[in-house]
Amino acid sequence: MSTRRKKIYEGKAKILYEGPEPGTLIQYFKDDATPFNTEKKTILEGKGVINNRISEYFMTRLNTIGVQNHFIKRLNLREQLIRELEIIPLEVVVRNVAAGSLSQRLGLPEGQALPRSIIEFYLKDDKLGDPMVTEEHITAFNWASTQEIDDMMALSLRVNDFLSGAFGAVGITLIDFKVEFGRLWENDFARVILADEISPDSCRLWDAQTNEKLDKDRVHRDLGDVIESYAEVARRLGIMKEMPTVIQGGLH
Ligand code: C5P
Repeated sequence: MSTRRKKIYEGKAKILYEGPEPGTLIQYFKDDATPFNTEKKTILEGKGVINNRISEYFMTRLNTIGVQNHFIKRLNLREQLIRELEIIPLEVVVRNVAAGSLSQRLGLPEGQALPRSIIEFYLKDDKLGDPMVTEEHITAFNWASTQEIDDMMALSLRVNDFLSGAFGAVGITLIDFKVEFGRLWENDFARVILADEISPDSCRLWDAQTNEKLDKDRVHRDLGDVIESYAEVARRLGIMKEMPTVIQGGLH
């Protein structure tokens, strides 16, 4: 990695660098994982490589069905070239089956199918622990307009349909997932575009037969075999026929 390259932003699992041309950025996938209840960082060797590939796979396919997103092309094992967007400071969660914070908040048993897909908005703010917000908060504080909320909801449901089908076809249930959006300005008009990543870090994925968890919850719940599970998701999708060398001999 070039040390001359300007770092724009560093999050828990990714770094954004200045891109080669104006209006582009380089998204670098780290191996860091952060369990919920600890300060300690866990390094999962090879996680960034797998997430880079899985996210490329879904962003490319979503583009072909008309869900525009920031992905341009994958550059190498850990990096992809993306379009620079004006990020909307919200996390949009779509849920099909009760789990995680929804189960805790409403006392629903994990694994209970929801009457319909439910969309939730959270404010992107690490210090506040990403609090849940309503449309009222979003429009009052100008984080997004009513039209942009409608666009994000419609796009999120299309992503949900596509991902549910793609995972379902390989024996994986899409329990829930998180996406982020940004604005792409063209003259005076801003279009809402899908951003961030789609990977086992941002989706809850259960084996359809056994309900075994194949996602980041393995880190949160100390279940072990995290990389093996992420690689299994990639393998079933037909993305990685073999483990990349950075993973081989990495963990055990
Ligand atoms: O924890 P919770 O049940 O609210 O998470 C819902 C979904 O959103 C999960 O798939 C989780 O992986 C994802 N999520 C995320 N980043 C966050 C919070 C949740 O990717 N900061």
